[in-house]
Amino acid sequence: MDRCDNCGNAYEKTFKIVMNSKEYSFDCFECAINHLAPHCQSCDTRVIGHGVEDGLSIYCCAGCARMQGVTDLKDHSNESYS
Ligand SMILES: [Zn+2]
Ligand SMILES: [Zn+2]
Repeated sequence: MDRCDNCGNAYEKTFKIVMNSKEYSFDCFECAINHLAPHCQSCDTRVIGHGVEDGLSIYCCAGCARMQGVTDLKDHSNESYS
């Protein structure tokens, strides 16, 4: 039986996520998000959708990226319309 890498719960229905070639086990999606989801560089919100990336920085939305002075980013969700 695997243990959740976030909360340590031993659970028979854990699932695995491979991220940056490291394998993690979790007992629920909430733990996976808490453990692995990046944080917006501007408002510290957890980014659980696509987010927007500027090299090494990730933002929850283009608005947050703009607040940090990044002006050439668009939300992924808008790309198909532009
Ligand atoms: Zn857990
Ligand atoms: Zn943000």
